[in-house]
Formats: sequence, structure tokens, C-alpha cells
Amino acid sequence: MDKYRGCAVEVTVTDLGNDLFQIDTEQSGYKGITAGYLIRSSKPTLIETGTASSAPIVIAALEKLEIFPKDLATIVVTHVHLDHAGGAGHLTSHYPHAELIAHERGAKHLVDPTKLMNSARRVFGSIIDDVMGALLPTPVERVRSLGDTAAIDLGDGRTLNSYYAPGHASHHVGLLDSATGDLFVGDAAGVYIPDTDTVKPATPPPDFDLDIALNTIDTFENLKPTRLLFSHYGPVSKIDETLDRSREELRVWVELVREARNTRLDLDHAISMIIERTRDRYASLLADVSALERFEALSSTGANIVGINRWLDKVEANPYDFGDAAASAPKHK
Ligand SMILES: [Zn+2]
Repeated sequence: MDKYRGCAVEVTVTDLGNDLFQIDTEQSGYKGITAGYLIRSSKPTLIETGTASSAPIVIAALEKLEIFPKDLATIVVTHVHLDHAGGAGHLTSHYPHAELIAHERGAKHLVDPTKLMNSARRVFGSIIDDVMGALLPTPVERVRSLGDTAAIDLGDGRTLNSYYAPGHASHHVGLLDSATGDLFVGDAAGVYIPDTDTVKPATPPPDFDLDIALNTIDTFENLKPTRLLFSHYGPVSKIDETLDRSREELRVWVELVREARNTRLDLDHAISMIIERTRDRYASLLADVSALERFEALSSTGANIVGINRWLDKVEANPYDFGDAAASAPKHK
């Protein structure tokens, strides 16, 4: 890990080998929860922008890596939630030659973010603008939409191969580096907490779907990656064990939310019940107050419950309302 103090911004950049660098985007001022990645190939490519508020940090990190405004060839996002794509408009204006790439079901929001920002503001209130900043538009001619599989040219025969990976979001993709076998999983395998080696699910509304999410994890396994690069947060080499944990987390949480519905808990009690019933699973995380706080701010228990509940409403006979809409607001969009 390398700390770098540029003119104004200190950044944390980690060399992961083979010209891959991890950038801490310091989302909402928290260190070590949200990453962007730079592949410094002959066509330098940034994977994930972080939030709009993180754009100066990402720009300083790229400068440290000697990627200047004229140099960046590509910006690709796994999905268009604001912690992954919020900085897209800022970065396409700073890097005038960079093409911006997302799955075809999400790309339109990068051209006209009005609907996405309005829905984020409805859920979070105007605090979204203070904490994450506003996603700015990118001209349509600079945005490329991906189909369900696609290849992004990294130069010199190296490609970043894109695979449709819905479940967390309906427009999510996974990205496999042909040179290394590194797989950028976005949020489709959940959240990995390196501090305590913990995997937690990321199931916010409105798109979460258990069956589709499990299918995506199978897709990832079949790609036989050498490492998983989590956007939250960092590289993992234990592929099978980690993906098994991702599956298990989803199943455990869905069962607990089903139970909370059946016993007609309100949201606060459902949150308490799930914290209690998962206490053993997350013992090391619960003992690390800093990591617990940072990752709960990123991906809250309440947001996971509301997202799973929304899916259960679609597949079970009786819809259920946990009440308190304000408390249910997902912090992770
Ligand atoms: Zn995320």
C-alpha cells in the first residue's frame, strides 16, 4: 500500500500486480469500503468511478499512476449505483478521450441521470447531494452499451470480458481480465470485509432477486477466476470458499427475512432479530467496531431486509409491509 500526498489530496493506491491498481475512493469519508481499479495497460482502463464526491481522489490516484487527462482510454462500471458510477460525469469531462461503458440496461442513466438522481433523492433526501454528490451527464456519443457478453480492449491483445451478472441490480456485469483471470465482481457476490475476512450480502431494493443472484454466482464460478476483486472491498484469492459463503449469506438472510414476515415484525424488530440471529456468523466483525460501523454505513441491515422483502413480495402469496419507510431507506445505492 502506498500513501501519496499530491497538491491537495492524499490517496491510497495498492499495487495488485500485472498493472492492476486498487484505489480507495474513500466513500463518504470512510477509508477502505469502496474501491476503484485501474488497469494500466496500453489502453488504460478504470473500473468503477466511486461517487461524484470521490472524483478528486480518483483523479489524484490516476495522476500518481501517471495517467493524465489525455491518457485514460476507458471507464467501465459494473452497475450504475452511485457508489460505482456516481463520478462518471466528472471523470468523462476530466478525461476527454475516455469512453464510458456500462450494460445496456443501465447506460441510459449515465447519459441522463435525472431519473436515477431523483429516485436516490426520494429515498435518501437531499443528503445524497452532500454525501455522495450528483451524477453528472456524459454525452451520448461517449457512452457505449454492453450486451450480455462483450469484450473491452485493454490493448496488446489483453481484453476485459464482460458477462451479464444480474441479481444485485438488473443491469450488473462482471468483468474478467483475459491476461490474469482477475474477475471484477462489483456487488454481485456481496460485500467482502477484508478487516475481518467476512462476507455479507448486498440486497438493496429495488432489483434484488435470490434466484438470479445465485445464478450469477454460478456464472462467476464457471469462469474459473484466479481472484475476485470486490468493489467493497479488495482482492480475494479463495474463490470457491468465498463464493460458497456468498451463496450461504443470501440463503440465510432470505430465510430470516421470511421468518420476520411470518412473525409480522416491524422493521426495527426485524433488524434486531437478524443482528441477534447472525451474531455467530459475524463474531469477528462485531468485535471490530470500526469495520462494523463503516460497512453498516455502506450496506445497512435495514436496506438488505427491505430489498429481500421486496423480492419475497413478488414470489410469495401475501405482500408484507415492514412499516417505517424512513428507517428502511437503503444507505447503499
Ligand atoms: Zn456498491
